Amino acid sequence: MLFSVRRESAVPIFKQVCGQVARLVDDGTLPPGSRLPATRALAARLGVNRSTVYRAYQELWALGYLESRPGSYSTVRARVRTAAVSRLPGRDGPRWDQLCPPRSRRIHEEYATLLRLIPRAVPVRAISFAGLSADRELNPDVDLRAAVRSVLLDTGKKLLEYGDPQGYGPLREVIARRMRTHGVSVSAEDILVTSGSQQALDLAVRLLAQPGDTIAVESPTYSMALPLLRFQGLHMAEIPMREDGADLDALEKRLQKSVPAFFYTIPNFQNPTGISTSQAHRERLLAICEERGIPLVEDGFEEEMKYFGKAVLPIKSMDARGLVIYLGTFSKVVFPGLRVGWIAAERDCLQRLLALSRFSQLSGNQLTQAAVACFCADGLYEQHLRRVHRAYRARMSAMLRALEEHLPSRKVTWTRPSGGYTLWVRLEADASAEVSLLKCLEHHGTAVAPGSLFFPGKPRGLCFRLSVSNLTQDEIHEGCRRLGKALSKFLGV
Ligand code: PMP
Repeated sequence: MLFSVRRESAVPIFKQVCGQVARLVDDGTLPPGSRLPATRALAARLGVNRSTVYRAYQELWALGYLESRPGSYSTVRARVRTAAVSRLPGRDGPRWDQLCPPRSRRIHEEYATLLRLIPRAVPVRAISFAGLSADRELNPDVDLRAAVRSVLLDTGKKLLEYGDPQGYGPLREVIARRMRTHGVSVSAEDILVTSGSQQALDLAVRLLAQPGDTIAVESPTYSMALPLLRFQGLHMAEIPMREDGADLDALEKRLQKSVPAFFYTIPNFQNPTGISTSQAHRERLLAICEERGIPLVEDGFEEEMKYFGKAVLPIKSMDARGLVIYLGTFSKVVFPGLRVGWIAAERDCLQRLLALSRFSQLSGNQLTQAAVACFCADGLYEQHLRRVHRAYRARMSAMLRALEEHLPSRKVTWTRPSGGYTLWVRLEADASAEVSLLKCLEHHGTAVAPGSLFFPGKPRGLCFRLSVSNLTQDEIHEGCRRLGKALSKFLGV
């Protein structure tokens, strides 16, 4: 058994010894039961410290190559035959596409499609209307830092243990209070804190539907809901969006065919269209669902972002029968990275959602939940909300003026939102021209969120979403000028 060490090598000597023994075991030169030299003898032979050899043997033991008993020689262990550690994973690694069931293969494809459509690398000088995350410059970082410090000092030890699976109590109080300001009469007991409203949606979907079910969705709708729904093996009944919200006549007609597991709706500043529904529309939608016993999943992701005119109350505020599962979030107002969202639902339903949540995450992050509760309790949330409203009111006004000024007056229409971040542009052109449209926009130094992302099925017409969330008023103006030029060229008007 020949060992050698190279002192000039960058590989530590104990690793060299370890590697040589492992190779001899792997290729069968040292079969199970072979005795290794005593550490003292091998150290003397190699001219190294005994502790170096000892460390190499320790490592081999940890890797499962050796057996060693106190006061006895180390011997090679009989291993159950698995691929040798040194040969994994390589070209012959596991075929995960075969190990995963068809449903999981689909999620991989969905993700690849998503990455293909989202312009990740926008050219440096391009002005992008594509992203929807709120402007990080507006985030009150200093106040959050103070809140984290304060909760750590006050209740630190407790916050670092597993917490209440329903969510940190004082935060649920804060959320319930805010919901009451929107006319929803709930208490902390009716709230389940989630990791953003995305997780809230996932829980609601898992509770209400099983593979093969049909659910009704607005079309277009929130792009990140679609892969989640498809992943669960759900079919989607598309209810077209009109200027005043989902087409309820179309919904009623669809319901004559079959009853969906639930209806997913975004009544305020719908993503992607920016449309908010009227009180009358909300009443009729709830009545339709109540009549047939269809749960309504109300995504209130931008409930607090009304900055033009008077707010219309959430559908949940009229929910006498308890059929509405309301999803809320802090993400569109402050600190999306903290991942704090919630569900407000009738208690029996909430307990079922709580069970699902507990099985998947035991309990949520208590520290961030406590920090958000502290931030809100100090009145900083309302102060921040006013600031955000001022900023986005100015940006959306600038956007609407710039679109009037620069977009062609023919073959283009767009929505006029009363808050939020997004609006929706429709072109009189075929949806199949999307790729050439995106190229034309890129050529003119601008980018948008392509409409096809938001349709469960085939896109109806050529459309795209614009967002003001991350642009200054000057950028909005210049971006719209470029957009106008590009669209005039593209549409030939
Ligand atoms: N619903 C809608 C309509 C959204 O646009 C988003 C995120 N943009 C979410 C839910 C999820 O947001 P979060 O998980 O950050 O609360």
